Amino acid sequence: MTPVVSAQKVCKSFGSLDVLKGIDLEVHDREVLCLIGPSGSGKSTLLRCINHLEKIDAGRLYVDGVLVGYRERGGRLHELRDKEIAEQRKNIGMVFQRFNLFPHMTALENVMEAPVQVRREPRGQVRERALELLDRVGLADKARSYPGQLSGGQQQRVAIARALAMQPKLMLFDEPTSALDPELVGDVLGVMRQLAKDGMTMVVVTHEMQFAREVADKVFFMDGGVVVESGSPDEVIGDPKHERTKSFLARVL
Ligand code: ADP
Ligand code: MG
Repeated sequence: MTPVVSAQKVCKSFGSLDVLKGIDLEVHDREVLCLIGPSGSGKSTLLRCINHLEKIDAGRLYVDGVLVGYRERGGRLHELRDKEIAEQRKNIGMVFQRFNLFPHMTALENVMEAPVQVRREPRGQVRERALELLDRVGLADKARSYPGQLSGGQQQRVAIARALAMQPKLMLFDEPTSALDPELVGDVLGVMRQLAKDGMTMVVVTHEMQFAREVADKVFFMDGGVVVESGSPDEVIGDPKHERTKSFLARVL
């Protein structure tokens, strides 16, 4: 079966700074891949490349078998137009460390925004789905609340519902609980755990090792722009082989 994400020797530099130095990775349908590693190792950049927020410099990156951001013709790559890129991005949901909800819109309006504005779906239909999604993230009673009236954990769950409203094939999470007070982390991880159980394909950057251990099908440890070690959570977190993985885990566990 075609992998949902396939990265082949993906490289990305910012000026003279080589941030991704040949990343290979595959995520299959219904799989959860957790990306771990120290700050600055390139985890966010990799997610941003998958979601068309950065262009790669070398290698190949495919989402659902389709080349990200480029068209291949006669062995040469041609950049896609903005419209074509927008089309590709519709299948990808992303949740950031900062929730970035629209402050002047209620939770419900935030969740409805993209399907109505981007996809021009009928409001009634979107509204019904948005209410279901808010229920799914445990916020059925907050549909009419504004972000400022919600805790960080609640806002992050609205952000997850908002990403799901576009019915993505793939969800990317970039340290979704890092900005939260410790007592709010559990609810957000709970929603993500349920999403994984329901079969969503996910790439999750996280420092929550317990979550990675329970939920991930595979764990990739990155350091200095390379994948140092990858495998099952039991292998990478439970029994790391590389010194760099061991010293990282000793710091976060
Ligand atoms: P991580 O998410 O693992 O902490 P990042 O992918 O955010 O790592 O960053 C990797 C490296 O790339 C860092 O040294 C960071 O400063 C650099 N970097 C990230 N984005 C940019 C950018 N837009 N311009 C220049 N340097 C960047
Ligand atoms: Mg990051």
